[in-house]
Amino acid sequence: MILTDTHTHLYSEEFQHDSDAAIQRAIQAGVNRLFVPSIDASYTQKMYALEAKYPDNVFLMMGLHPTYVKDNYQEELAHVEEQLAKRKFAAVGEIGIDLYWDKTHLKEQQYAFRHQIQLAKKYELPINIHCRDAFDEIFEVLESEKGEGLYGIFHCFTGNFEQAQKAISYGMKLGIGGVATFKNGKIDQFLNEIDLKHIVLETDSPYLAPVPYRGKRNESSYTVLVAEKLASIYGVSVADIAAVTTKNSKAIFGF
Ligand SMILES: [Zn+2]
Repeated sequence: MILTDTHTHLYSEEFQHDSDAAIQRAIQAGVNRLFVPSIDASYTQKMYALEAKYPDNVFLMMGLHPTYVKDNYQEELAHVEEQLAKRKFAAVGEIGIDLYWDKTHLKEQQYAFRHQIQLAKKYELPINIHCRDAFDEIFEVLESEKGEGLYGIFHCFTGNFEQAQKAISYGMKLGIGGVATFKNGKIDQFLNEIDLKHIVLETDSPYLAPVPYRGKRNESSYTVLVAEKLASIYGVSVADIAAVTTKNSKAIFGF
C-alpha cells in the first residue's frame, strides 16, 4: 500500500527535534510520498536539506503562503521566481487567500495569488491552494485564470458541495485531511457524492491532526487515519483509497 501525503510541513519548528523519526514513521506506515509546500523564503534552505536527505520520499513545492504576504511581498515573490527558474519543483504552493487572520493585505494577497498562478503556468506546474474565509475571492481569481494551464489541488478543502463542484470545475482535486474525521467537520456528509477521482489525501502537519489525535501535533503517518475515514465514507477498502488517491496525486504532480 502506498499512501501520498500531498501537504506536509516537515520543516516546521514543531519537528525540529524529531523530523527524522516522524519521516520514518510515515514511511513505515506506507506514507512514502511526502509533498512539502513552501511558506516563505526563511524556510527554503531547510526544505532543500530535507529533500537532499530523503530524495525518494520528499518532494518540494515553491510559493509564498497568503498569510505571509506582508509589506515585503515583492521581495518574497522575487525569491519564489528565482527558485522556480533555478530548479525543478512538484508544484507552486502553497498560494491563495486567507482572510481569517488578517484582511489588511487583501489586495496584495490577490496580486500574489494571481502572479504565482501565472508562474505555475509558465513552468507548467500545478498549484496548491490555501483558502481560508476566502472562497469568493479565490474563485474570482480562478475564474479569470481558468483554462488549460490551470490545475492543482485545493488544499484542506472544507467548503460545501457547491464549492467542491466549483473547485473541481477549475481543474482542482480536493485535498482531504484531518477535518474529515472531525465530528463537526461537515465535509464527511457530502464527500461520498464527489467521485473519488477528484480526491487526494493530506495531513497539513503539524496542524489539523485527525481523530483520535485532534488538537495534538499532526504528522504524515496519520494519513492512514484519513484514508480509513474515507474508506468508511465511500464504502471501499483502505487499499482502494490508497491506490486511487496516490494515482490522483500522480496525475497532478506528474510522478
Ligand atoms: Zn499548509
